[in-house]
Amino acid sequence: MKNEKKYNKELLDLEVVIGSISMAMFFGVVLVASFAEMPDFVRVILLIIAMAFLFAIAFALLKMEQIVGYYQCAKCHHKYVPTYKAIFLAMHMGRTRHLTCPKCHKKSWQKKVAG
Ligand SMILES: [Zn+2]
Repeated sequence: MKNEKKYNKELLDLEVVIGSISMAMFFGVVLVASFAEMPDFVRVILLIIAMAFLFAIAFALLKMEQIVGYYQCAKCHHKYVPTYKAIFLAMHMGRTRHLTCPKCHKKSWQKKVAG
């Protein structure tokens, strides 16, 4: 139990690192595509690749966020793993998401917990 919590915490930290690096790379490519001297079609291709890359990373990180650790209901403190769809559609502020608890069926802002 303690090991799982530590492992989950590391994975969640890794998610922030991957997310930050990806954003930096994305903006780097966008800057180059915007200001560097190049034919227009190369500019367009670069931007498409950068966006595809960002979407792929976003989906992967969201998947990671879904399966690593648990969300904890603010009302009844039940811990659970939500579906990818629920995570995808939920409003969020950082890692806190507005989800419906499967136990008490109340909607609340639920915190991500490592274990
Ligand atoms: Zn609940």
